[in-house]
Amino acid sequence: MTTSTGDNMFTLQPGGSVLSRKPKLADLIDQASFRDLLKSFSELYGIGVKVFDQGGQKLVDFRAQTTEYCGLMFAHYETKVRCTKLVGEVKSCELDSPSPEAKQCFSGLRYRVGPIYLEGDFLGRIVYGPFRPETLLRAPGELQGLAPDMKQQQANDLLVQIRPIAERAIDAVVLHCQKVVDTVIFSGYKALVASQMHIESITAAYSDLEERNRTLSQANDKLREMDRLKSNFIATVSHELRTPLTSVIGYSEMLLEGLAGPLQNEQKDYVATIMEKGESLLQLITSILDLSKIESGTFKLARNPVDISLVAKASLTDVLPQARKKNLNLVSHFPEGGQLFLLDEEKLHRSITNLLGNAVKFTPEGGTVELKVQHFDGSLPKESGKGFDPFVPENNKWLLISVRDTGIGIPDDKLQKVFEPFFQVDSSSTREYGGTGLGLAIVRNFVEAHGGAVWATSELQKGSVFSIAVPFSCAITK
Ligand code: ADP
Repeated sequence: MTTSTGDNMFTLQPGGSVLSRKPKLADLIDQASFRDLLKSFSELYGIGVKVFDQGGQKLVDFRAQTTEYCGLMFAHYETKVRCTKLVGEVKSCELDSPSPEAKQCFSGLRYRVGPIYLEGDFLGRIVYGPFRPETLLRAPGELQGLAPDMKQQQANDLLVQIRPIAERAIDAVVLHCQKVVDTVIFSGYKALVASQMHIESITAAYSDLEERNRTLSQANDKLREMDRLKSNFIATVSHELRTPLTSVIGYSEMLLEGLAGPLQNEQKDYVATIMEKGESLLQLITSILDLSKIESGTFKLARNPVDISLVAKASLTDVLPQARKKNLNLVSHFPEGGQLFLLDEEKLHRSITNLLGNAVKFTPEGGTVELKVQHFDGSLPKESGKGFDPFVPENNKWLLISVRDTGIGIPDDKLQKVFEPFFQVDSSSTREYGGTGLGLAIVRNFVEAHGGAVWATSELQKGSVFSIAVPFSCAITK
C-alpha cells in the first residue's frame, strides 16, 4: 500500500509498524518547502547549503558566491584532486557530536557540517559552505605550491568578491538553521506517524473484513452444498414414499369396489378413510417433490400446444366433488375460438387446480367460486409486478386466468407472503383448514417459469381473487 503526504511518497512495508521502522529523511519532509526554507537561509546569509540523506543522496544544493573561486581551484589538477577529496570527506565523515563540525579547505574557505538526528537516529547531514572566514583576506600562499600556474592575483580578486563572515556569526546561523530543520523534521515525523498509524489501522480493519468475508463465503458454500443435499434427500425419500402409497390407495380402491369380496358398511367407512388420508398424503409428497425439484433447479417445462379452456375445465372437474360437498356455486367463463398456446399442460393444470382447490377450501357453505379465462390486452394491476411496456405493444398481451371466491379473504399484510413456501395465514395447531402451505409457492414457480406472474387481491370476509397471467406470445398463430 502506498500513501502520500504532500509530494512525499511513503511505502507501507509489510511486517512492521511505522513506530518500529527507521524513517528516511525524504519521508519526513515536503521536499519543495524544505528546499524553499534552506534557499532563504542561503540567500540571507550568503552561504551555500547542501543536505544529504543517510545514504549520501543529495536532497538540497544551494551555492553562494564561492562558485568562481572554487571553479579556479577546479581548473588545476592538484587543487582539483584536493578539492574532490575534501568534498568526499565532508559528505561522508563520521559525525560523532550533535553540534556542527568545522572543516578547513586548502583554499582557505571553510565548511560546517551538522548532523540531522531524529530521536537518536542519524538521518543525514547539512553542509554549510564553503564560506569565507572574516580573517581570510588573501588566497593562501600554499596554493602556488599546489598549482604553480594559478595566478595569485586572480585568486585574490575572486576571493575578495566573496562576502566574509565572522566565525561567531556562522556558528549562530548554523545553530539557528539546525534548530529550524530539527523542528521541521520532528513535525514531519509526527504527521507521518499519525497518517501511517491511520493507514495501518485501516489496513488491519480491511484485512479483518477480508478474513470475515472469506469465512462467510465458505460458510455460504457449505450451506449451499447442504441445501443441495437436503433437496436430493427430500427428492429421493419422497419418490420412495410414493410407490408404496400408490399401492395403499390402489388396494383401498379395490377393496371399496368389492374386488376382494363384499365389505360391511363400517368396514367400507374405514377403508374410505384410509384412501382419503392416503390421497392427501400423496398430494403432500407430490408437492414436496415439486418444490425440491424447483429448488434444485432440475424442473423443466414440457411445452406442447394446449387449449387452455380444456385445461381449466379439467381443473374444475377435479374440485367438483369438494365444491358439491360444500354446496358451492361454481361459475366459469372461457374465451371463444379454442386458441392454442405453447404451455406445459400438466403444470398449468396443477396451478389452476391449486387456486380452485384453495377457493373451494376457504369459501364457506353456499358461497361462489368463479373461474375466468380471458385474453387480456393492456396494463396488468401493479400487484402483478409486470409493468406496462409502451414501446412493444405485444408485451402487453396476456392470457389471464382468474379464480374469484366469496371466502374468508386474506389480510393485506399477508397477501404477498401466501406465495412463500410453508406460509399459512393461520398456522396454529387448532387451524380449521388443512394444507401444507406449499401450493401457492409451487404455482408461483410454475407460472414464472412460463414468463408469467401470479398475484392476489382480497378483502377480509368478502373473498379473494387469485390471477395468473401468461404472456400471449406463447400463442400459436395458425
Ligand atoms: P395450503 O392451502 O396448503 O395451506 P397454499 O400455499 O395453497 O397452502 O396457501 C397458503 C395460504 O394462503 C393458505 O394456508 C391460506 O392461509 C391462504 N390462502 C390461499 N388461498 C386462499 C383463498 N382463496 N382464500 C383465503 N386464503 C387463502
